[in-house]
Amino acid sequence: MEDMFRFADDFGPARILHIYRPSLALKAIVVVDNTACGAAIGGVRMAPDVSVDECFRLARAMTLKNAAAGLPHGGGKAVIVGDPHMVPAEKEQLIRAFAAAIRDIVDYIPGPDMGTDERCMAWIKDETGRAVGLPSAIGGIPLDEIGATGFGLAACVDVAREFIGLDLKGARVAVQGFGAVGKHAARFLGEKGAVLIAASDTSGTLADPSGLDVGALIALKEAGKLLRDHAKGSKLSADAILDIDCDIWIPAARPDVVRADNVARLRTRLMPQGANIPCTLEAEEALHDRGVLVIPDFIANAGGVICASMEYRGSTQRAAFEYIDERIRANTRTVLEESRQNKNLPRTAAVALAERRVRTAMQILRWH
Ligand code: NAD
Repeated sequence: MEDMFRFADDFGPARILHIYRPSLALKAIVVVDNTACGAAIGGVRMAPDVSVDECFRLARAMTLKNAAAGLPHGGGKAVIVGDPHMVPAEKEQLIRAFAAAIRDIVDYIPGPDMGTDERCMAWIKDETGRAVGLPSAIGGIPLDEIGATGFGLAACVDVAREFIGLDLKGARVAVQGFGAVGKHAARFLGEKGAVLIAASDTSGTLADPSGLDVGALIALKEAGKLLRDHAKGSKLSADAILDIDCDIWIPAARPDVVRADNVARLRTRLMPQGANIPCTLEAEEALHDRGVLVIPDFIANAGGVICASMEYRGSTQRAAFEYIDERIRANTRTVLEESRQNKNLPRTAAVALAERRVRTAMQILRWH
């Protein structure tokens, strides 16, 4: 028999909810992992193939990310089984049905994730009174539009570069996944003097060792076009981004893109992780052994959730950017100093940092 408590450890999960409304074709799972730091914040993912295991792993990642970011929030996640590209009216019905089903789960605050966007969050807020990542018309800070996560990645790089003696002026950057995270990371790093020499999307890799025009590429993507439509630069396969010789390689697309079978292809000095779990642990260890500095996802890409949490508290965009800058710089420094001192992976130091904060909160508050 399947062990219902197979995920249980010192931190959680506090609750796993299985939601099923056959008349509405609604199948969803909510995992509220740990709420010692406050109500759980975590995205709502919509995909045709989602599992309890995935939902739990994502919820735990949010517990660590929110604690590391010093937010008054625990971690949670929801997954809805469905095609995110279904017709809009059906999607609204499904999302509203999901929202109605979680109305009383008041210690879970939904946010956008793969397959859901700010409009979906507006529907959830309408039904339940709580959601983050809202449209600006109803008080949201448009975190993808302003590039909150890319901004945080650039702050992270600005600290990490000191640990490897890298000058950002002229530093060569390659970005896998020129979307909300990747394009803004390239933009903010460009403002610090770095040069984008390659970027990829589903259409392939665009490369130019003399530097790509980040503003032109952002305009291209915002016009609904693909990187391969750009007039300049060499057009390579999407996979070729792995082979680009650069100083900073930013994964900002999918999970598990760097694995034992392809990690040897990377030629970089620094990898701030924009995407969630872009490397397998084995690959991360191999990079560490080769002296490549990897800044773990939940430290480097916390800009988005920090922004969402500030939005929830009615804060402004400017205050959100200030907090992202301060917190990501401080965390990057702490993690890299501890990792250097203890001669372990930055991820090990990052997990220890986040777990310390959760344990402290669990001791201060009567969490059970
Ligand atoms: P997005 O959909 O805006 O952009 C993703 C980009 O990756 C797109 O340009 C797409 O074409 C490209 N892509 C997809 N598959 C690819 C492939 N195989 N090769 C090359 N490019 C590929 O998504 P996003 O919001 O930028 O998120 C990117 C990643 O960062 C995701 O893993 C997400 O979970 C994570 N993340 C996002 C945020 C945020 O604030 N948006 C915060 C933290 C983490």
